[in-house]
Amino acid sequence: MNKKVAIERVLELRDLIDRANEAYYQEAMPFISDRAFDEALSELRELEESFDLGTEDSPTLRVGGKPSESFVTVEHPQPMLSLDNTYNEKELRDFDKRVRDRLGDQPFTYSVEMKFDGASIRLRYEDGQLIVGATRGDGERGDDITENLKTLKDIPLRVDEVVLKSLFLEIDSDWDDDEEDEDNRNPSFVFEVRGEAYMEKEAFVRLNDFREEQGLPPFANPRNSTAGTLKMQDPREVARRPIRFFGFDLIVEGRPSPPTQIEKLKRIGDLGFPVNPDYRLCRSVDEVLDVISEWDLSRHSLPFETDGAVIKVNEQHYRAELGTTSKSPRWAIAYKFQAEQATTLLEGITLQVGRLGSITPVAELKPVTLAGTVVKRASLHNEDEIHRKDIRVGDLVTVEKAGDIIPQVMSVVDADREERGKPFQMPLNCPACGEELVKLDEEVKWRCINPECPPQIRERLTHFASRDAMDIEGLGEAVVSQLVDHGLVHTFADLYQLSAEDVEPLERMGKKSSKNLIEAIEKSCTQPFQRVLFALGIRFVGKTVARDLAFHFRSMDALLEASEEDLCAVPSIGPKIAGSLTAYFDHQKHHKTLEALREAGLQFEMPDQTGRDSERLGSGDDESETGYRWFLEGKTFVLTGTLPTLSRNDAIDLIERYGGRTSSSVSKKTDYVLAGDKAGSKLAKALKLDVPVLDEETFLEMIQNQVGTT
Ligand code: ZN
Repeated sequence: MNKKVAIERVLELRDLIDRANEAYYQEAMPFISDRAFDEALSELRELEESFDLGTEDSPTLRVGGKPSESFVTVEHPQPMLSLDNTYNEKELRDFDKRVRDRLGDQPFTYSVEMKFDGASIRLRYEDGQLIVGATRGDGERGDDITENLKTLKDIPLRVDEVVLKSLFLEIDSDWDDDEEDEDNRNPSFVFEVRGEAYMEKEAFVRLNDFREEQGLPPFANPRNSTAGTLKMQDPREVARRPIRFFGFDLIVEGRPSPPTQIEKLKRIGDLGFPVNPDYRLCRSVDEVLDVISEWDLSRHSLPFETDGAVIKVNEQHYRAELGTTSKSPRWAIAYKFQAEQATTLLEGITLQVGRLGSITPVAELKPVTLAGTVVKRASLHNEDEIHRKDIRVGDLVTVEKAGDIIPQVMSVVDADREERGKPFQMPLNCPACGEELVKLDEEVKWRCINPECPPQIRERLTHFASRDAMDIEGLGEAVVSQLVDHGLVHTFADLYQLSAEDVEPLERMGKKSSKNLIEAIEKSCTQPFQRVLFALGIRFVGKTVARDLAFHFRSMDALLEASEEDLCAVPSIGPKIAGSLTAYFDHQKHHKTLEALREAGLQFEMPDQTGRDSERLGSGDDESETGYRWFLEGKTFVLTGTLPTLSRNDAIDLIERYGGRTSSSVSKKTDYVLAGDKAGSKLAKALKLDVPVLDEETFLEMIQNQVGTT
């Protein structure tokens, strides 16, 4: 591979990784598997290393390293104080009076900033490089979450030296960038930016949707989801969540800070950190109160949640004079907006079917105005939640907005009245298709697992046609939607009845694309059995599980007959997946789906060129009798470096074709490392662990010896 090709591939991989991260929560069903994601990332890492193509904003830096067992506690060089809260005009005027009493007739101003409902963090930079990122903790010490914070796109990993220099030239005229011995000098310039990590309302809603689909409890508000995210053990998971950052404080170590709060905010912005632009300079407490009432009205239309305002004495030099109490500064205070609540009548409880079959009970409310919008419905999350709050139709309930956006039923107001309705009873059948609902493993949600349930069919078909499943080119979300809307497709099998004339009238189709689409659908009939299994979208059955099932059971018929115990005999399958599979196959309806697909000509068994099936039923494990076809079964390969003739994907294909699998990291369980040019740390590790290393030639020979030809 030459450098030009490498650059192209690097750009392609970065784009893929970024899109995959974005899609993760938006589409509930990620378009590439975790394994494919890790592969892309490690390929990118190797290319960047080999061709020296690393950049500051590369996903290899942003998607984070290995999960950590626990976080190290770090002491804050200056405490991260919390602010006292005020809740009304009088309390705020009292604060103003205390400030004026202390400052006498010295002139001063206030800065007013929005308060964000997230998690406070501090970021330490030495010579422009991010060194430590930490949570507030108890104010004196917090958790070192640097690796997680590095995944936030809002946080610069390095501050441009020119910017640094020009900004602080006036503070420190001794700045010297001609230093020869970079490594040995002490950090000559240290600063900290403090601010709030937060989650935008929309991202919060998406994350909760995703969690509900996954059967996880939703977060109560963006603050919880942000704090929870920042303390996750796996930075890769953090990178997938859209956490944002606003800076609000700048501390320059060993040098004077900028003279005012407003000046600080400007500098934080100049340094490359996002600063919420809506900050104000006020000359009196009356002006402060005006700003607060203005924001209280406008806040609901902001993309993020603000739960109040932070008022600071603007001039830095008064801060020492005003001092701090044991916990909070005397020169700043927070003003909290009142949480908006409303009381209304619960007129009914209905069920909503999610895109992936999860069932959510919904409160049908007498319309009521709350935080600027009319609320008619509110999620009740799940059956248990309704019973816990003992919510019944006919009750008066209080409603609040989580994260300023999602209406939630908080409690019943008149629970002790004499005549109440009956306790809620969860219906047994799907409101959309009538299928009996199931509850898998320990999930809190009921589900409709009918793959052809109307509210789910779009999502199911899109998954069915996706690249890792049936790989039907041209059958993306937009076309699927049209097919469903026009009543052309209700089931998976309907796809195989379509003709070019059927699809030609669809938007942006035309003669050529119609013909191509039908051909692509026909071609998908040859996709191997494991892809068919994956395409069905059975819960918990991802690509890897589908492949393991296919290799183990060899045919749909054998799989249909398998007991939960038989299923658990497959290494990658535990009781959770086995339970999901049996729940799926127990439904008569699914047999109809499967029969229709079988008739359409899809592959329902593994190609049988070796008589392996009869072997399996007979003597069992005698490997020598099983022929060449799966001679790599159970073997794990790790690829590293650039192979002379095979592309990475070709090599993976070959390994998988003969039953092997690939992994992205070398461990004691690795059977072979297939190494090419510029193999990096993986090769070193293989040698250390005594894992056999193959070059391309040996690898191809190995296959040739088994197969006869390649
Ligand atoms: Zn249904």
